[in-house]
Amino acid sequence: MTKMTRRNFGVLAGVSLTTIGLPILAGPAFAQGKPRVVVIGGGPGGATAARYIAKDSNGAVDVTLIEPLKEFTTCFFSNLYVGGFRSFKSITHNYDKVAKAGVKLVHSFAAAIDRDKKQVVLAGGERVPYDRLLVAPGIDLKYDSVPGYSEAAAEIMPHAWKPGAQTKLLASKLNALKDGDMIVMVPPPNPYRCPPGPYERASMFAHVLKKKGYTKSRIVILDPKPNFSKQGVFMDGWERHYPGVIEWQDPKIHSGIKGVNVQTGEVETGFGTYKGALVNVIPAQMAGKIVRDAGLANQSGFCPIDPASMKSTVDPNIFIVGDASIAGDMPKSAFSANSQAKVAAMTVRAELTKSRAFPARYANTCWSLIAPDDDIKVGASYAPGDGKIKSSGGFVSQRTDTADIRKQNYKESVDWYNGIVADIFG
Ligand SMILES: Cc1cc2nc3c(=O)[nH]c(=O)nc-3n(C[C@H](O)[C@H](O)[C@H](O)COP(=O)(O)OP(=O)(O)OC[C@H]3O[C@@H](n4cnc5c(N)ncnc54)[C@H](O)[C@@H]3O)c2cc1C
Repeated sequence: MTKMTRRNFGVLAGVSLTTIGLPILAGPAFAQGKPRVVVIGGGPGGATAARYIAKDSNGAVDVTLIEPLKEFTTCFFSNLYVGGFRSFKSITHNYDKVAKAGVKLVHSFAAAIDRDKKQVVLAGGERVPYDRLLVAPGIDLKYDSVPGYSEAAAEIMPHAWKPGAQTKLLASKLNALKDGDMIVMVPPPNPYRCPPGPYERASMFAHVLKKKGYTKSRIVILDPKPNFSKQGVFMDGWERHYPGVIEWQDPKIHSGIKGVNVQTGEVETGFGTYKGALVNVIPAQMAGKIVRDAGLANQSGFCPIDPASMKSTVDPNIFIVGDASIAGDMPKSAFSANSQAKVAAMTVRAELTKSRAFPARYANTCWSLIAPDDDIKVGASYAPGDGKIKSSGGFVSQRTDTADIRKQNYKESVDWYNGIVADIFG
């Protein structure tokens, strides 16, 4: 085990120890006073959990958040950035208020989890001990799920399914299109983050083409799935706002994605070859590497959890929330991650401070913008049941909704965004 001093830890982690006051490696934390919670990943799942544990335990628990990024750009509302409805700045957030809530921030990458010793090993080799570990690393992309696609290919055919540079690349390629240029999209197979996301994105592509006055460009969606989230209301909206512009093909039509050619910009299917000036390939997904390496994922590539607590079924000291978890009927979304994080935070706090925990309840709503003031939604409440997180009633937008309802949905989504980022980042 690497021997650490206060000095070398701070240097390696790229942070000042005097600022974060991190506990140095030692024996069992309870013997030292405050129980220690370490959180890996500062997205909607991890940052929410870290903030809630620090806040709700009133300083009785020592909380450390390990996240390499100093600024987090949200995937949610990134389609609205692509469509020109939001600035990049408006979807980018820092961790200042998370720190203010009493969370110690370590801007480093967690390289491994040593479950036997209950320590997280940072990229620089330092070890951070925990009594409870909460992991929310989000997803990794299975680049090779689409033959010919790779991390390098994503620089030419962006996925933009992880936020930041990829999202900017996608928007700049979209804005560089000339009238008549084709857009080809390959959505991912289930399960993946944000089920309606690819179809909201196609709507935003069409909106930008329409706004530019383009009449010849088309969007072809080559879907590996036979159907998709909110399909009826999306397709109705496409016909009303962008007639003839978006063509969605299910596998029966295109006979399967055979591969992509980055040099020629082509997507080959069993039926034919489609050439795009913009090709958006969103490959299959799995939980982030850190949890797969730690043996917390099953053969599905995601992590089984106890639906009443978000505790790993593999290790009772570890909780997994957000996209990396197998959350039953809940979709992989920021709303879900935030909701799961609160259940995990409550359980962790209750276990470590011997305080009360309430029965787990979860919620999710996913809004999607089809065109200005035409927003659709799908959502549900959830509770543990039948050994999983089970839906206990939901709702979905209807084709017959009035324009007022759709406009109200959009307003609701903006209010939701403002509310959830305040709940995640303070
Ligand atoms: C285009 C698009 C649109 C979307 N729209 C919506 C929407 O409208 N509503 C909605 O609710 N959801 C939406 N989502 C889904 C949402 O963004 C994700 O479900 C959500 O971000 C998942 O949160 P998470 O905390 O599990 O993971 P992430 O947000 O991916 O956060 C994981 C964090 O962990 C860090 N990390 C990973 N590995 C390590 C490690 N080893 N050490 C340290 N840190 C690590 C990463 O840097 C990252 O900051 C959308 C997604 C996309 C792609």
